[in-house]
Amino acid sequence: MTYTYDDQNIFAKILRGEIPNNTVMETDHCLAFTDIAPQAPVHVLVIPKGAYVNHDHFATTASDAEVIDFTRTIGKICAELDVAPGNDGQGYRLIANTGTHGVQDVPHLHVHILAGRGLGRMLTKA
Ligand code: 5GP
Repeated sequence: MTYTYDDQNIFAKILRGEIPNNTVMETDHCLAFTDIAPQAPVHVLVIPKGAYVNHDHFATTASDAEVIDFTRTIGKICAELDVAPGNDGQGYRLIANTGTHGVQDVPHLHVHILAGRGLGRMLTKA
């Protein structure tokens, strides 16, 4: 697997503080902030601080500490936003658009957390 990371992507600029963001949570290894064009009442993006293009890049090359921190941060945000069913929330959807068929716009791994309304079926038929 070969990925080349473009450090001029918008999320790299957010991580460097060149573009402001509305931070929801920050940890040693990741940053979570609200999406600039929300598709649901809750729309949070969670990104690793490391230079990873997408989820498979991250999952196969990041350190255990980074992977654990990223996974746990998503869980903590879902709990804090009261959308986790285990806390009587109404649920949520995680999306990591990847590559061309996945219609990924920003080439830095990001997981969308979407919630706050019924989100419909997972995919519409092509
Ligand atoms: P993708 O299509 O790559 O899965 O999602 C990229 C997301 O980044 C989109 O939902 C878009 O609204 C969001 N986005 C793009 N530019 C910015 C920005 O400058 N700030 C924030 N907070 N979100 C952005």
